Amino acid sequence: MSPYRRAWLAWLAFFVALFTVAPLGLWLGRAAPGLEPLAILPCLLAAWLVGRGARCPVCGTSAFRAGRSVFSRTTAWPHRRCARCDHDLTGPG
Ligand SMILES: [Zn+2]
Repeated sequence: MSPYRRAWLAWLAFFVALFTVAPLGLWLGRAAPGLEPLAILPCLLAAWLVGRGARCPVCGTSAFRAGRSVFSRTTAWPHRRCARCDHDLTGPG
């Protein structure tokens, strides 16, 4: 699977976990008011687990990285080409 496709799969995993875990957030709200935001943690964990492979196979830069600098921003959407080495991330790897 290409890093680009894997990055979008991480997005999908986040939203699937979000809607799956939403009842947990409601339960947390009743059990301990104020802890509802903790229900986002399983969603982030799911996105991280799936998105670990969303990196450039040549240089290891994340598919979400937008620039070449260490201080460059990370975007919420993946890119088709590597920000550092311009490798095609839509290919098999
Ligand atoms: Zn690269």
